[in-house]
Amino acid sequence: MADYIYTMEIRLTPDQSKGVNLVQDVARAAGITLYLTGGAIRDIISGFTIRDLDFTVQGNPLKLQKDFERAGAQLAGHDDETRTLFLVLPGNVRAEIGMAHTEHYEKVGKAPTIAPASIQEDLRRRDFTVNAMALSLNEGSRGLLLDPFNGVADIEAKLLRILHNYSFVEDPSRLIRATRFAARFHWPMEERTQQRYDAAKENKYIDHIARSAVGHEIAQLAHEDDPLNVIRALEKEDFLKVLHPHWSAAKVDTNGLALLMKTRQQMVDLGYTVDPSAAVMHFLTARLSDKDISDLRRQIPRKDLIESWRDIEEHAKDLAKRLTGKEAATPSRTWNLLSSARPEMVLFLAVTSRHQSVALKIKNYLTKWRQVQQRLPLPEMTELLITPQLPEYPKIARDVFMLLLDGRLRSRTETLKFLKPFAPPPPPPPPPPRRGRGAKAAAGAAPAAVAGKKPEAVKGKGKGAAAPVSAVPPAAAKAPATKADAKTVAKPDVKAAAKQEPKTKAAKVAHKPAKPASKPSAKRPAKKAQPKKSKARKR
Ligand code: ATP
Ligand code: MG
Repeated sequence: MADYIYTMEIRLTPDQSKGVNLVQDVARAAGITLYLTGGAIRDIISGFTIRDLDFTVQGNPLKLQKDFERAGAQLAGHDDETRTLFLVLPGNVRAEIGMAHTEHYEKVGKAPTIAPASIQEDLRRRDFTVNAMALSLNEGSRGLLLDPFNGVADIEAKLLRILHNYSFVEDPSRLIRATRFAARFHWPMEERTQQRYDAAKENKYIDHIARSAVGHEIAQLAHEDDPLNVIRALEKEDFLKVLHPHWSAAKVDTNGLALLMKTRQQMVDLGYTVDPSAAVMHFLTARLSDKDISDLRRQIPRKDLIESWRDIEEHAKDLAKRLTGKEAATPSRTWNLLSSARPEMVLFLAVTSRHQSVALKIKNYLTKWRQVQQRLPLPEMTELLITPQLPEYPKIARDVFMLLLDGRLRSRTETLKFLKPFAPPPPPPPPPPRRGRGAKAAAGAAPAAVAGKKPEAVKGKGKGAAAPVSAVPPAAAKAPATKADAKTVAKPDVKAAAKQEPKTKAAKVAHKPAKPASKPSAKRPAKKAQPKKSKARKR
């Protein structure tokens, strides 16, 4: 049997994983039954990107709002009718916590009657088999997959299948959803589903779409990886104008959108978590009038998207202004300014700025300046024992990076001259060999173990190996080191440190890889720590 918890854990991003745990903890504390449902399960099983987390609880999630906020979630909206909370979990993870419910449709075009229900009943009111699964996150049944319509088989067959013949009649927004999913996944509709879809289109069921569903579907476009493809598919099926009568693919700034998605990927590759949804909406509606744009915004149920989309240009303008001022007078200052800005703003400005110097600064920030970190003289720093094991290492590495960025350290010699005062004192010599037979054996074994080199030289190298320069950007910019900071770093005996440098090539290679940096105690002097280790090794 498939281990869905394992699959979930390896497929979720670390932030999404933490988000699942957060929601699970809150639900457990409240004694409420919780399931991961909908698209999250579909994407976990199919391998597609998991865009958001949909949870369903057997109970009323609106009552848990304060608990979620206390746990670190932000409220982005709620739907009183379906008792759904829209949350932003730490790390910008979007989540919806809905109440398990049934929907009873009495008349075409009329809103359904909603009633609390069990998860099994809830799954029966879903749109497609691939979306009608639930994974238990409850003690005792955690990992159990509820899949009453065999959604796993349809994922394998790559098919979109409605749960019953009246699906599109009951909720015509499923026509838009089917079009969107078919365009996104390139999964066709199963034959009967396609027939019902065609019939529903012909009979113009879409005219009965609920306003709340329109808002939800508008917002969903912002999170598509290839929104233009979906917009075109919706337009082809005549559904785009259901979302807004004046909307068409021609209203999209296609070049801007393409550049946005490219730059976004570039930032993701650099390790940024960047949410492009507001910028996507900006480009998707670039040629719509202000009034049309406000109409669209008004219908969106999540206020975080409405606000970020509304404010994106203004915020970008502010950042651009700062980038042309004193705050960004040097590359290091610019680096710090851009590192403290929201990645979403850097992304948007990178794509939209018409100001040459702003565009160049952002370009440098995302490309050229990152290469400067390669100029940190790592081997020499290792020899000077300036390694990640030093508590001051991040600060020293940051200082060097900033000085290199500004061209204030122009050569390797200059860099080394700057670094030398920060070298820690050398470790003390090993204790004298013990007398007696045991000591002899130990004395014989030690040099062999270190390829015939002086134990202290080996120890110095071993401890200092593999100093990761990745500790510099982008983390460097988050806590920029100032000159004053650098001064506070203890300046140990440089001469002694120089003596400590291994002189031969063999000494340089005869070291073991450094252990992962355990957090050194700021109070304990390095000197005392060393003999302990050397003794331990000898034994
Ligand atoms: P996405 O990846 O776009 O978020 P999704 O399937 O998760 O896809 P959501 O809009 O987040 O889509 O909805 C979550 C779940 O709620 C769906 O998977 C589906 O089970 C259910 N759902 C949403 N809208 C409808 C609808 N109109 N009719 C029936 N079920 C729906
Ligand atoms: Mg979803």
